Amino acid sequence: MATVSFAERLIAWHDGHGRHDLPWQRDPSAYRVWISEVMLQQTRVTTVIPYFGQFTARFPEVGVLAAAPLDEVLALWSGLGYYARARHLHQTAQAVSTQHGGQFPRDMATLSALPGIGRSTAAAILTLAMGLRHPILDGNAKRVLARHHAITGWPGDAAVARALWELAERCTPHHGFAAYTQAIMDLGATLCARARPVCGDCPVANDCRARILDRIPEFPGRRTRPTLPVRKTLFVILMNPAGAVFLERRPTAGIWGGLWAFPECPPELDPLPWAANHYGLVVTHTATWATVRHTLTHLHLDITPWLGSVATADENITTSTTLGHRKTIPKKTIEESPTLWYNPRHDPPGGLATPVARLMARLIDQPTFDSTAIVRETK
Ligand code: SF4
Repeated sequence: MATVSFAERLIAWHDGHGRHDLPWQRDPSAYRVWISEVMLQQTRVTTVIPYFGQFTARFPEVGVLAAAPLDEVLALWSGLGYYARARHLHQTAQAVSTQHGGQFPRDMATLSALPGIGRSTAAAILTLAMGLRHPILDGNAKRVLARHHAITGWPGDAAVARALWELAERCTPHHGFAAYTQAIMDLGATLCARARPVCGDCPVANDCRARILDRIPEFPGRRTRPTLPVRKTLFVILMNPAGAVFLERRPTAGIWGGLWAFPECPPELDPLPWAANHYGLVVTHTATWATVRHTLTHLHLDITPWLGSVATADENITTSTTLGHRKTIPKKTIEESPTLWYNPRHDPPGGLATPVARLMARLIDQPTFDSTAIVRETK
């Protein structure tokens, strides 16, 4: 079966059965294709749609995104996970604005060198927004090609990746490449899904090697994961008499970079003197919750939530940040402040690390939680 026939069948299928009304398919500018491609990495279309709408409504073009505070970008990203993607979006928007006159580069080398834009994302932008032929190999295309051609091995291995890129190059037609690109992404996202592919409706089922061999679950191959190490930590959850919770901004590099989180105390230390030394806070221990496990790509984090109340807060901390409500604090103050008191019933001051958001929700559910005092304070 000639590869052009593979492409033709995909395009014909997409014409009749593919999705043509996704928000980023309307006005497929480089900016909108880029945002959608980054959001769609590791995230389902149905999850991405509302995020894409809110994000592009607030940041309708690259210059607006470049000028926005990182906190606001992270806040709009809250819930999508993999926050490095949001930080890279912000960095790339700034690079496009300052180094490329507000226009996305039209050559693969320059475009794919921008933060968070790999070869496949660059190819999608060049193909879908600029009409230039470049094969893509996102997660969906990888799955379709690996199954259709029974390519063994984990796509993260260099040799397997090379084989898949060669295949992507061979399969991408010289005419109708934009339609083909949409089609293979759509097939992977719908019929050729990770679990329970619908081969009966698939336009390339008759020569799909994985289906013929009855080995579909083996493709694409999985990574053999080493056992993840476990790290223990204490989340120190401090509440003041006004019902506000103490948060600290994480350093830009490392886990949850730039997000707001509870202070983390090494588990071998006593949080009482630790909080006094670090923040000048006099704390009374009120509770310790059961340890929860949060798994990251490279480790299991066993988090023990340690709760305390603070009768009075240090002047240096409270002067500019006691209010804890987004609308009441000038953005500049939030941006510059490494700590703040935050009312959990209000919008977060920026992006919250996922386990922090979960614990915050649990905190609000506590029968003793009362934020009436701080509501009065922020009026
Ligand atoms: S036949 Fe099934 S496994 Fe093969 S490409 Fe189509 S949907 Fe995927």
